[in-house]
Amino acid sequence: MAGVVVVFDFDKTIIDVDSDNWVVDSLGATELFDRLLPTMPWNALIDTMMGELHARGKTVHDVAEVLRSAPIDPRVGAAIKAAYGLGCDLRVLSDANGFFIETILDHHGLRGCFSEINTNPSLVDADGRLRIGPYHATPHGCGVGTCPPNMCKGQVLDRIRASSVGKRVIYLGDGRGDYCPSLRLGRDDFVMPRRGFPVWDLICENPGLLQAEVHPWSDGGDMEETLLRLVRKVLVEESRLLPLDCCKLESLPVAAVQDGMPMPLGVKNV
Ligand SMILES: [Mg+2]
Repeated sequence: MAGVVVVFDFDKTIIDVDSDNWVVDSLGATELFDRLLPTMPWNALIDTMMGELHARGKTVHDVAEVLRSAPIDPRVGAAIKAAYGLGCDLRVLSDANGFFIETILDHHGLRGCFSEINTNPSLVDADGRLRIGPYHATPHGCGVGTCPPNMCKGQVLDRIRASSVGKRVIYLGDGRGDYCPSLRLGRDDFVMPRRGFPVWDLICENPGLLQAEVHPWSDGGDMEETLLRLVRKVLVEESRLLPLDCCKLESLPVAAVQDGMPMPLGVKNV
């Protein structure tokens, strides 16, 4: 396996919308959502909305069906499969929830590319109602000020980095919650903020606070090109320690691994 860990945010990074809003809007509950939004934290609101949808007769199958129609740029799927094919260790780090993320990744044949999904827990209770909980059961205590109360992605990223010693991290995200992990990346790591989105604005306020190299992206094609360029750069740098492999890597036909990758074997269950 290559010495690269790629950590993806999910909403507006892997898919092109916010999955929470997509479900609420698609199942006709936008008005209630907008009314409750000022009254409770987002994570608790989504759990409440799942209860409301259940009370209105919407099943988890209805929720899954709308999730499968959430838009995803085909170049993002291609980028994920190519990075996986090049031996990167791919993780999801998201403030959505397990049910939403797994349903969408399964639908697009991408679930097997990821070794780990870090997100808010979900379960379907005995009544068939989807329950969503917080990632952190107790206050996370992060002082950066941009993490929601239920999840500090920076703390999760610290754990990922601690378990991936010697590997370089590429982090992709769009939201305020992606700022804290961006600050915790090291000098050999890379952050790929989505240009024009909240994490990009936060980074631009004071770029000197980040140690990692910053490589913005705008759309799926842009993400694919940028991510694979960074992965190849790391692989070539690694290969300089092994001169015999260098030429092979520098001539690696990336286009050949972008489509039609076989599904992986031995993927870790999360
Ligand atoms: Mg996001």
